[in-house]
Amino acid sequence: MDVSRRTFVKTGLAGAVGFSLLGFDLTPLHAQAQSLKISRTTETRSTCPYCAVSCGVIIHTIGDKAKNVTPQVVHVEGDPDHPINRGTLCPKGSSLQQDIQNDRRILKPQVRRPGSDHWDDISWNQAIDEIARWTKKERDASFVETDAKGQTVNRCETIAFTGGCTDTNEFNYLVVKTMRSMGIVRLENQARV
Ligand code: SF4
Repeated sequence: MDVSRRTFVKTGLAGAVGFSLLGFDLTPLHAQAQSLKISRTTETRSTCPYCAVSCGVIIHTIGDKAKNVTPQVVHVEGDPDHPINRGTLCPKGSSLQQDIQNDRRILKPQVRRPGSDHWDDISWNQAIDEIARWTKKERDASFVETDAKGQTVNRCETIAFTGGCTDTNEFNYLVVKTMRSMGIVRLENQARV
């Protein structure tokens, strides 16, 4: 039988849902190809970070959780049980896997010094130290005890806090308690969850 490469590929595809025209049973292969992508993944529920709609997503990760294994995200999809999006995602949300695995994703704290034209990497310890020092300095300098009418307000109007959509309820609870205890009134969060 004289079969060209093109004919071989076309023949294989034509029979891909059952027996190929060459006589091979492709049913097990077809079934495995359909289930392979997420059959061994760990599902993690999260929230799309892109806008305030805050759609629910399921992140599929492969990795056996051993210490020397880095889990690999292989698929992200809409969460069908989520009351906001019920499994749907817009084109931005559908591209989340590329956001998670992007080479340009920033994984370290960065600071842009006054007058500088670029951002510098700093350590987490340095970032925490600097945030604490600047917060105290700014709050001491700008704290308002009474307003123009002489009423006690005890507020700090020159510091703001913004959070992300994947912050947990517990984290947000602590944020509000911490910020309010310092008199900070400008709190915001990307997602209304
Ligand atoms: S999937 Fe789209 S609509 Fe939903 S939160 Fe993300 S960006 Fe917003």
